[in-house]
Amino acid sequence: MTNSGNQPSRSLLCDIMMYKNKDISTIPAIQWGLKHEATALSAYLKKFEETHRTVEVVRPGLVTHREYPYIRASPDAIISCDCHGCNIIEIKCPYKARCMEPKQAVLESKIDYVKIGINGTLELVCAHKYGYYEQVMTQLACSEQKSATLIIWTKLGFIDLPIQFDEQYWCKSMLPKLKQFFETIVVTEILTGHMKKQLDSNISENADTVTNIDETTEEKKEDLDDSLSNSSSGK
Ligand SMILES: [Zn+2]
Repeated sequence: MTNSGNQPSRSLLCDIMMYKNKDISTIPAIQWGLKHEATALSAYLKKFEETHRTVEVVRPGLVTHREYPYIRASPDAIISCDCHGCNIIEIKCPYKARCMEPKQAVLESKIDYVKIGINGTLELVCAHKYGYYEQVMTQLACSEQKSATLIIWTKLGFIDLPIQFDEQYWCKSMLPKLKQFFETIVVTEILTGHMKKQLDSNISENADTVTNIDETTEEKKEDLDDSLSNSSSGK
């Protein structure tokens, strides 16, 4: 599961409760991500295998947290090698940067969830509205791993960012918020079914950001598309 590092959303609650939310499978960015994820992983593996021994790849599916089973994540892959052990892989194929060099897209802020760090390295932004950093932290916590790689793939190439588990951030910031979300909002919904009733009785109530796509500009639409590709791929 993911959240933006700020307030977990209504769509997250929908997702956890397995309520039928707006079908997002027809959104171009979702289709783009699904279509190219395997290509991105192959491209990365090809490079990885040049410098590592006995490389293995698994697709772990849903991984639940050992202590808090309601906290879950689905890493795109886990790559292991004899020389370094396990590494969680998260793949992004940003739709709005699909025809750009990934690094150029970062420099031009077309991809704004990655920034240039002090020593010139690329860093995943913490507490960005898409919640990708928090998504990777959740994957690491659930799978009890310490290191991950974020792959950002476009038609012109890919970049790979190493990310270490930030135990302080997880324990002090993320975990308390996630626990509170489940223990109050989710438990309340289980007991009252309030949101379910709302969804059943008034379909238009469900018309939040997703259905407003038509009214937004193309730029905003692509931004929304990319953010949605998080919720579909990384719950
Ligand atoms: Zn290795």
